[in-house]
Amino acid sequence: MSANRRDFIKFVVVGAVTAGCPVDLSLVAAQGGETHLGGASVDGEDNQVCHQVRDGKVFSRPPASGKHDVVIVGGGVSGLTAAYRLQHRDVLLLEKEPHWGGNAYAMEYDGSTYATGSAFLEVNSEAFHFAKEIGLDPLPVYSPDGSIINGEFVPDTWGDGLNKLPYPPIARDSFKKFKKEMLSIDVEKRGTELYNVPFSSFMKLYAPEIKQWWDTFGPSNWGATSADTAAALGIYTMQEIEASSTADNRYTWPGGLGAITKKLAEILQPHYGERMVTSATTVAVVPGKEDVQVSYMAGGDLKTVSAKAVIMATPKFITRRIVEGLPEKQNRAMQQIRYAPYCVVNLIFNKPVYNKGYDTWCPGNTFTDFIVADWVIRKKSGYQQKYNILSCYTPMKEEERGLLLTEAGARQIAANVLRDFQKLLPETNVDPVEVHIYRRGHPMYMSTPRLYTQVQPLVRQPMDRVFFANTDSEGPESTTNEAIVAARRAVRQAEARLAGAVAKADSRAATIGSREYGYNASV
Ligand SMILES: Cc1cc2nc3c(=O)[nH]c(=O)nc-3n(C[C@H](O)[C@H](O)[C@H](O)COP(=O)(O)OP(=O)(O)OC[C@H]3O[C@@H](n4cnc5c(N)ncnc54)[C@H](O)[C@@H]3O)c2cc1C
Repeated sequence: MSANRRDFIKFVVVGAVTAGCPVDLSLVAAQGGETHLGGASVDGEDNQVCHQVRDGKVFSRPPASGKHDVVIVGGGVSGLTAAYRLQHRDVLLLEKEPHWGGNAYAMEYDGSTYATGSAFLEVNSEAFHFAKEIGLDPLPVYSPDGSIINGEFVPDTWGDGLNKLPYPPIARDSFKKFKKEMLSIDVEKRGTELYNVPFSSFMKLYAPEIKQWWDTFGPSNWGATSADTAAALGIYTMQEIEASSTADNRYTWPGGLGAITKKLAEILQPHYGERMVTSATTVAVVPGKEDVQVSYMAGGDLKTVSAKAVIMATPKFITRRIVEGLPEKQNRAMQQIRYAPYCVVNLIFNKPVYNKGYDTWCPGNTFTDFIVADWVIRKKSGYQQKYNILSCYTPMKEEERGLLLTEAGARQIAANVLRDFQKLLPETNVDPVEVHIYRRGHPMYMSTPRLYTQVQPLVRQPMDRVFFANTDSEGPESTTNEAIVAARRAVRQAEARLAGAVAKADSRAATIGSREYGYNASV
């Protein structure tokens, strides 16, 4: 596309360079608030308070001005779920952003909803049942993923698509052999070994195109290329792709799993009222003998409240800087978790451009895959696709995080995504009416070897009156489901503490060999 053509497209840069990332404060200060620069607007979060926490600033905490049964820090899906489960308690819920949802957050363009993060859940998972419990009806995707490779669309990549991959026959055979071998591995039996070695060690004898495909799929789903991925997760996912080729087990809503956090906020707000506070950044959680003191910044004021229990639903790279007195081993475990920077670039077209499949993989491009925002409702009777919004998932390398700090850097990524998208197929060489980029600095923990078996069990240990939710407590992969599972565990632990029990170490070993999607409310 010529520079001239691009000049007429409106680029909107939204969202966060998540708190705690190692950046120059002066750059962060420059992007706070709403700025209009040419055709682009920046509506980013203000991370200055969190960066002060990161830099070791000691806030002089005022005395407690209120008391609560439970304070929940973080209003993503995990914190909101905990608040939902604790409606019979006096709960204070604190969220640093001006909106609820964290990484499961949807936005709208002229009435059409699109995802800025989390996309789909799996049938019969806890998230699936929880969505139903709160009154949502998950809609089936029913579309095995295709890929666009060398200018050709290949439907059902790992099914019939294996015969059509536009590679030399030797590479196609290698794909088939790889799949056969991965399906024959008993992950359950070899779990301990497989969670501790990289997935790439299983790819050495195969065509390089296989590694390229998984180095596209992995970063999008779990933040890491095959060299940084626990083999068990990659192999298990191959087995899941095969299982879902007969019955796709994915469900969603237009705009993805932001539907869950939106619904939770709608249910909880009338109930909690002023005890649900957005734009409130927690800066210190200080456990004492009788209570925990939580200090947070809201509207320029620093406040302290006293709680009988605290649930930290924030990611661990922030949590470990806020909670005082963490045992050294647990602190170190939290520090070991790595997070991928990640953008979602939404291309908004005012006519149908691409509706071939729900999620299409595009190895060798700036983005990894893209999703049709209204896929699950587009065939409903009476529905007319006013805008064809394509959400391009654009995970990045850790060392590229700095690019997100400036509007120019974020715009450049969005422009690269658009350039690559327009080269995919002849019909995609069309100009969108707008391009929105939602940037996040640390949204997805990387499913590295040993994380699930050795790091996460340490990370989630309760600390007398402080309990740890958030998806990065559970694993093996960052999902909305695990965020909900983590909330259930933390609520159970907090309830036991409120009833007078002393918090015990979590003796549950990591589930080896399979991700537990089954719904088991008693765990
Ligand atoms: C691009 C992308 C695509 C994804 N796709 C899928 C998918 O298809 N399916 C799936 O299941 N999962 C997916 N995930 C993962 C899923 O979105 C997350 O696992 C889930 O949303 C995590 O929820 P959480 O509540 O545990 O954490 P978060 O969403 O990180 O919520 C934590 C909250 O804490 C707040 N916070 C941080 N610091 C403070 C502070 N000091 N004080 C107060 N509040 C604070 C944050 O602003 C945030 O709102 C995806 C993630 C991304 C980024």
